[in-house]
Amino acid sequence: MNRIAVLGSTGSVGASCLEVVDNHRDRMDLLGISGHSRWETLGLQSQRFHPRWAVVSDKFIRSRVTTEAFSEKTRLTFGGEELERIAREPEVDTIVSAIVGAAGLRSTWEAVKAGKRVAIANKETLVIAGSLIMTMAEQSAATLIPVDSEHSAVFQALQSGKKSEVRRIVLTASGGPFRGWKLAQMRDVTPEMALAHPTWNMGPKVTVDSATMMNKALEVIEARWLFGIDADRISVVVHPQSVLHSFVEFVDGSVIAQMSPPDMKLPIQYALTWPERAEGCSPRVDWSQPCTLELEPPDFEAFPALQLGFEAARRGGTCGSVLNAANEVAVERFLAGRLRFDLIPVLCRSLMDGHTFDPSPTLTDLLRLDAQVREEAFRWK
Ligand code: NAD
Ligand code: MG
Repeated sequence: MNRIAVLGSTGSVGASCLEVVDNHRDRMDLLGISGHSRWETLGLQSQRFHPRWAVVSDKFIRSRVTTEAFSEKTRLTFGGEELERIAREPEVDTIVSAIVGAAGLRSTWEAVKAGKRVAIANKETLVIAGSLIMTMAEQSAATLIPVDSEHSAVFQALQSGKKSEVRRIVLTASGGPFRGWKLAQMRDVTPEMALAHPTWNMGPKVTVDSATMMNKALEVIEARWLFGIDADRISVVVHPQSVLHSFVEFVDGSVIAQMSPPDMKLPIQYALTWPERAEGCSPRVDWSQPCTLELEPPDFEAFPALQLGFEAARRGGTCGSVLNAANEVAVERFLAGRLRFDLIPVLCRSLMDGHTFDPSPTLTDLLRLDAQVREEAFRWK
């Protein structure tokens, strides 16, 4: 039995993860769930799975939450510290890190420190503190398994050869709703337009990140740390169908890809069953239908966010933390109608270039910087 806690279970990845668990009740046991503000959804999940613990991480909504909405078998607690407690819980084997943004960092950190198997969807943690997390994982013998579809594909393809035989990692990007647009056309993009993703159905933050291609920028940084590969050996290619989920090119020129229809349940399940595979609950490739798969180079001019990702991956240190915090605030401002879409990467560039770079920050330094950059990003004009 894999005893699992899903942090961020009320989100898009979290909900898909619960579907996977439901499909494998014989080998997976859900011990913990969490949601930030959507406590009604969390209550329904508690009624369906009867986990031992449920955490409402936003403690300020406590007075509104009715405990009757939860299963009698579930102990309900409040506040962000409770996420960290669950992340350390000795009875839990696997933590699914599915909280969005820097809010997922502390609990992921604790899970890695406690030597857990960590199925990581929360890419922002690796963007901010990838170097520290990977070092700590080595010390604690934690296993980090990617959930992000591109990184899961790379993780699967890497099994075709030795690490020393890898020449290049190529991450695929759908290109988002504005693929083929020029930067000048993106001035008047509304939140509604940015939230209409052509192939993936995801939470609002990662959907906007896909529209700016900041998501791919963050994924370049994620890959840099997760696979210990230099930024100049990572490429991005646009693939609008989202069926090829990234490639590994080996020294002999062989390119190995992982292919499946776009559905997060597959990479989530693989992260939970690895090193084994199990019967899946995601749609399959329909080989009886004609299928055209396109690949094209990304447009760095129309999507300047992409360059920021390569720079932050190359420089390391404090760059990822600054880029991530600036972007989180920029997306929030854009969704609130308080920042133009095309200014998201401009804001991020300005704060990344303007900060005092530190090549080897501690976690405390990174958290302090995160708070400071957020304040600057809120005031940025
Ligand atoms: P979402 O917005 O749908 O869900 C986010 C979850 O985090 C919810 O459970 C929410 O309650 C919780 N949360 C939000 N703010 C919080 C806070 N301050 N403290 C504690 N919990 C908080 O997001 P999502 O689309 O499921 O994405 C989750 C993570 O997975 C992100 O890092 C994203 O980049 C990554 N990811 C998502 C997808 C996808 O298909 N959705 C694919 C690949 C990677
Ligand atoms: Mg992805």
